[in-house]
Amino acid sequence: MKQLSAATVRLLSSSQIITSVVSVVKELIENSLDAGATSIEVKLENYGFDKIEVRDNGEGIKAVDVPVMAVKYYTSKISSHEDLENLTTYGFRGEALGSICSVAEVLITTRTAADDFSTQYVLDGSGHILSQKPSHLGQGTTVTALRLFKNLPVRKQFYSTAKKCKEELKKVQDLLISYGILKPDTRIVFVHNKAVIWQKSRVPDHRVALMSVLGTSVMGNMESVQHHCEESQIHLSGFFPKHEADHNSTSLSTPERSFIFINSRPIHQKDILKLIRHYYNLKCLKESTRSYPIFFLKIDIPTAEVDINLTPDKSQVLLQNKFLTENPKTSLEDATVQLEELWKTSSEEEKLKYEEKAKKDLERYNYQMKKAIEQESQIPLKDGRKKMKPTSTWSLAQKHKLKATLSNQPKLDDLFQSQNEKRKSENIKIVEIPFSMESLKLNFKKQKQVDLEETDELCLIHNLKFPDAWLITSKTEVMLLNPYRVEEALLFKRLLENHKLPAEPLEKPILLTESVFNGSHYLEVLHKMMTVDQRCNGTNYLSDPRLTANGFKIKLKPGVSITEHYWEIEGMATCLPFYGVMDLKEILNAILNKNAKEIYECRPRKVISYLEGEAVRLSRQLPMYLPKEDIRDLISKMKHQFGNEIKGCVHGRPFFHHLTHVPETL
Ligand code: ADP
Ligand code: MG
Repeated sequence: MKQLSAATVRLLSSSQIITSVVSVVKELIENSLDAGATSIEVKLENYGFDKIEVRDNGEGIKAVDVPVMAVKYYTSKISSHEDLENLTTYGFRGEALGSICSVAEVLITTRTAADDFSTQYVLDGSGHILSQKPSHLGQGTTVTALRLFKNLPVRKQFYSTAKKCKEELKKVQDLLISYGILKPDTRIVFVHNKAVIWQKSRVPDHRVALMSVLGTSVMGNMESVQHHCEESQIHLSGFFPKHEADHNSTSLSTPERSFIFINSRPIHQKDILKLIRHYYNLKCLKESTRSYPIFFLKIDIPTAEVDINLTPDKSQVLLQNKFLTENPKTSLEDATVQLEELWKTSSEEEKLKYEEKAKKDLERYNYQMKKAIEQESQIPLKDGRKKMKPTSTWSLAQKHKLKATLSNQPKLDDLFQSQNEKRKSENIKIVEIPFSMESLKLNFKKQKQVDLEETDELCLIHNLKFPDAWLITSKTEVMLLNPYRVEEALLFKRLLENHKLPAEPLEKPILLTESVFNGSHYLEVLHKMMTVDQRCNGTNYLSDPRLTANGFKIKLKPGVSITEHYWEIEGMATCLPFYGVMDLKEILNAILNKNAKEIYECRPRKVISYLEGEAVRLSRQLPMYLPKEDIRDLISKMKHQFGNEIKGCVHGRPFFHHLTHVPETL
């Protein structure tokens, strides 16, 4: 027998945490969140296998911690196991960075508020520093992992198909979305091969965060729910589909928009999901093939009650008071049968021993019961329910004249209440759900009426054998819809509005003077723009998004008097050939002569055609066959984003192909 080399041991144990691109991203963004970041940028190249980079604006890593930051089992977050009882950070094992080092080449650039500049460290396979050099980044930390799994060919092989890669990308996006909803005040940008795939700005609350992910029409069908249990100190809050919502829009065939968080950790807790699905399937989703309601549930429990040490990625937790047990009744019965068998085959001596034990158990149980009853009588009974505020969703619903419906709130309260009581009494799960065939039929009829009233709406029939043709009807005609063209146009619009071209530092900065611009009118535009102080030494950069989103990093060079300021292009987008002053002029011209206020109004032509190309490229990455709900989703986005304005893709090809008119008498 041979002892495994240290490197092999590292590789084996690391492969438990770092199993995929998404697990690297998860560990890195949790570190960023632990560091108090309000802006996180995740960039992947070649699906993350060439490069994964997570940049944050958090507190940075202190110089004293740097030598061990990526060495396994070094953490700045806890100092003994007792701290686990009051855990408020995502990380605590000090394993992630070390594990990533053993499966990829890692660079860490960091700067704290106390540092004068940032430093980039190159790490070796065991997380020790190989070399370091000064760098130009601002406060925060950037972790770059290159050539992931280069030493694990089998794992790489797993991702050899394009389908697997795209699935992985989607997983990363879903993960970022779930953190995005959980942390409304954190900005998140997700870039793959230099194209922005998803992003979210800082927003005031969960509602707006959810709105940006789910869209206004889905959110119009959701309501906020709060429940607090004094006794067990469990706090539930979130958004669920309204009782009489349009359940076609509030459910999916997968749980990808069923967000559950326990103490701020996104988790995949089967039993909670099952319980919620069960409730919704009985109540509302009978007519729908999609059985996963869209919802956001945030559960907060005293930290001592949760054990997150169940799986390496902490995505499953063990609740000490497992208040949502799967099916205790059957397992209890099974256990009884097994016990009876065991009893029959036991010897007299063993039986005596068990009887003795049982007696002691009973005594202890009686004592604990007595104490619990005493305590209970001391707790004042309070109704933990909170009243729903009249929220924007509510007014939205009013506007759309949705019928006033019974809120889900009392039912959910009762549901969770019954769960709690069950735990207290006999550990038997009884969930009563008011349900009748009559009401279901009534609802169905109502729904049908609504459908008829809205015949103007587009109605999806089904897809033909070709992936790019879906049969659609409107009030007056039957058409084919090409979803890829719609997606392309949507992507293009989004990129045009939001995409930020990255600016790379120029070797020779370009000084912007009157002679460069043939006059002072453009300099005056620059003069009026907001500046931001980025460094302690007083250098100012223009932070106007119309410049920065178009890849211009412009520094103010103070002159003798205010009228003699100069500006200097210090950094510029490098993804476009021959990009430069002419393009800057185009932007300034749009601002000066066309009063362009938004980013999309002042994109230079070169940027527009680059973004067109990106939109086309991204939409080609969509799967061949899109499920029906995606198409519905797309149609609603199309209506929402374009109205009747745009009816074609970036090449001007139409979304719809007219087939025939619907006969008047049908
Ligand atoms: P853990 O998060 O469990 O402590 P990690 O290996 O993920 O372990 O990180 C090790 C240490 O490196 C952390 O305890 C923290 O001090 C530091 N660190 C890692 N990432 C960041 C970051 N983005 N910002 C600030 N500090 C970080
Ligand atoms: Mg960590």
